[in-house]
Amino acid sequence: MSVTKLEIEKVLKKLSEQFKNPGGMVVGGPYKTLVGVILSARTRDEQVLKLLPNLFKVYPNVEVMADASVSEIQSMINTIGMYKQKAKNLKKMADTVVKDFNGKIPDNIDDLVLLAGVGRKTASVVLVACFNKPAIAVDTHVHRVTNRMGWVNTKIPLHTESSLLKLVPKKSHDLINRVFVKFGRYICIPSKPRCWMCPVKQYCGFGDKNTIRPKDANLIESDIIRREEELEVLRKEVLYICQDI
Ligand code: SF4
Repeated sequence: MSVTKLEIEKVLKKLSEQFKNPGGMVVGGPYKTLVGVILSARTRDEQVLKLLPNLFKVYPNVEVMADASVSEIQSMINTIGMYKQKAKNLKKMADTVVKDFNGKIPDNIDDLVLLAGVGRKTASVVLVACFNKPAIAVDTHVHRVTNRMGWVNTKIPLHTESSLLKLVPKKSHDLINRVFVKFGRYICIPSKPRCWMCPVKQYCGFGDKNTIRPKDANLIESDIIRREEELEVLRKEVLYICQDI
């Protein structure tokens, strides 16, 4: 199934109406957003958002973080998974930004991926959210959903990214990660996608749609709304608490 630009636009419009909020880690300028995205790898957004206010109070900018020791950073983030490795990455990232980039988070993908803990996905989130640059952040959700819908036919996220960059109009690049991460987390889930509640199923080429509404459908739907609302409250708290930092 090949998809048209018009269909892409319709799908993105529908999903952005349903998922209006920015990504959970869009919490301020490039430094804060980069730190949030590095910490959110394989960790629930809620857990990261809860620790960010204190972290940014202690390390308000990249220079202060570069002056910290790894063990100090560890003690600030030890409520999340892989905190030891993430603390090492944050320290190394801050050192590199201070030494090689004059204290400024780079605004291009080639330099961003040189930083510890930063892959193409993380770099793309920062480019789109903080520098308004066209980029498509492909994580496991974006990769799965766009393959299921028939937009791409790829085995690895890197190929999904290059296919999507050709396929999706530049003005819509920022929407891809924002809407498909939430859509993949709540509706087009890995096993047994919830096609019965999918607002874009008429545009989807997936051959094994799960269209039967389950008995607990109402519960599932209200839980999605509750989780999204809770996440947005936490994200706004981080923005509010950290606005003067
Ligand atoms: S119809 Fe099903 S498989 Fe297709 S995008 Fe929607 S939830 Fe995913």
